[in-house]
Amino acid sequence: MKQCPTINKLAEYQTEALANREQQAIHQHITNCTVCQRELQALESTVQLLATLPVPALPDNLWAGVAQHLPNNPRIAFRQRWWKALAGAGVAAGIAIGLLVMHAPNARLPIAPASASAYVADHALLSSQDTFADRASIGVMLALQRSEP
Ligand SMILES: [Zn+2]
Repeated sequence: MKQCPTINKLAEYQTEALANREQQAIHQHITNCTVCQRELQALESTVQLLATLPVPALPDNLWAGVAQHLPNNPRIAFRQRWWKALAGAGVAAGIAIGLLVMHAPNARLPIAPASASAYVADHALLSSQDTFADRASIGVMLALQRSEP
């Protein structure tokens, strides 16, 4: 691999989501490319920062509210047992992956963000451009964050 992989491929490499052959090709490239080594280091520090964020507490009756709007399906009952266990981790992982992959597909991420709150603020601004973004909540979050001493 002569050309640097995209940030998406590096993220997939980091999570070992690539096929073995592609994983090895990128590994080979990274051992000789300081640019990709820095990008990978930035991805790893980002994952570590995101891991320090608190996982929001979900209300106990959240699934019941969602389930009553779904059609009657036996597969849903099976999923319901796993849902509570995976909900917190899934939300955090989904936010992390969504921010990394969908909002800056070919952009360079800042290397080693100064803090978790700075990282969240940067990516909240990016995510506000998303079609389905809740811009009001993002604006309130940013305003609250800036008003903190
Ligand atoms: Zn490279």
